[in-house]
Amino acid sequence: MQTLALHTCCAPCSAAVIEWLMANGIRPLLFYYNPNIFPEQEYQIRRQECSRYAHSLGLEAVDGDASHDLWLERITGLEDEPERGLRCLECFKIRLLATANFAAERGIKSFATTLAASRQKSLEQIAEAGHWAAAQYPGISFYEKNWRKGGLSERRRELLRDNDFYNQQYCGCEFSLRRRTDSGNKV
Ligand code: SF4
Repeated sequence: MQTLALHTCCAPCSAAVIEWLMANGIRPLLFYYNPNIFPEQEYQIRRQECSRYAHSLGLEAVDGDASHDLWLERITGLEDEPERGLRCLECFKIRLLATANFAAERGIKSFATTLAASRQKSLEQIAEAGHWAAAQYPGISFYEKNWRKGGLSERRRELLRDNDFYNQQYCGCEFSLRRRTDSGNKV
């Protein structure tokens, strides 16, 4: 079975992607690397939910060495960008560069991300960040797919309900949390 390094952002976005990969002869090696998530408690909840699902399927899930302070340094000057703006592109690049590095270290030729399963995010930005990250590691490619089509969005909702996943109400960083708090709406 072919192996793919799979960057996982959260359990709700990951479940249907993992299921599809395994049904199509691809075994994902999960890599949880999300230094953007704030606060720490939220980070730990999302991480543990990903691990819980991976272990239920007998899959390996590796935690990246995440530092929110370093992430904040990397997005300095972009704090006031709107979602889907330049801060998000940089955020995707940070996470997918680490994933490309992880794939290279493990001798895996290709990587993907569950970020692309969320309707809140720009597929174009994710693809740009993924191919940019892959280009930094010769021999590594970004596996680009629209994980919202082919019934996968519907399956995402079913698996979320069936597994009783924690379902976050904001994207992840303090800037997206502030937006939700200011507007009183789910983002
Ligand atoms: S809104 Fe989401 S994608 Fe954009 S910078 Fe914050 S955590 Fe990253």
